[in-house]
Amino acid sequence: MTSAPMIGVLAIQGAVREHISLLEAAGAQAMPIRQTADIAKVTGIVLPGGESTTISKLAVIDGLMEPLRAAASEGVPIYGSCAGMILLADRILDGRPDQETIGGIDMTVRRNAFGRQVDSFEGGIDLVGIDGGPFPGIFIRAPWVEEIGPKVEVLGRVGAGTANGRIVAVRDRNLIATSFHPELTGDTRVHQYFVEMVRQAA
Ligand code: GLN
Repeated sequence: MTSAPMIGVLAIQGAVREHISLLEAAGAQAMPIRQTADIAKVTGIVLPGGESTTISKLAVIDGLMEPLRAAASEGVPIYGSCAGMILLADRILDGRPDQETIGGIDMTVRRNAFGRQVDSFEGGIDLVGIDGGPFPGIFIRAPWVEEIGPKVEVLGRVGAGTANGRIVAVRDRNLIATSFHPELTGDTRVHQYFVEMVRQAA
């Protein structure tokens, strides 16, 4: 392991610092993405959680939407957590009528899917391609994936409770998304998986 790819974290809102430290712990270099020029400096991109309606509105205003769409379709590895998952979805349910997404993953994502009474919860999620036991999933007003296209790979599902079986982690070629927030745990495994994707793509 010699290469430390430079990965950008979209820095409009959300847990930007936490993603940066886990990316560094996983062997990458990391920087915030605040403007279009930053996208050219990175070989992978993380879209953090936050409020997807706000993030997408500000991304449009900042002129970041089209460059991010271009990166997604050109094969740049992108990882979205929670609101970031919503941003990577081709279709959303319970979004704002004017809510734009970057898109790229052939899936329908439902916002705030777990219901108001379950604002946040934690649960172990078995993830395809990630060893070492269930991943500690922290869900905060999280979306789930309601439907996927034929080429989308399911990486993880909720394993218990009323949402049992719901898809919460997916991969579509260069794009991955989780409903939960690995950046709020000390567990680097999802970030390591993503850093490896970025290395492979280089
Ligand atoms: N509910 C938020 C949204 O729709 C996502 C929550 C999160 O990222 N923790 O954007």
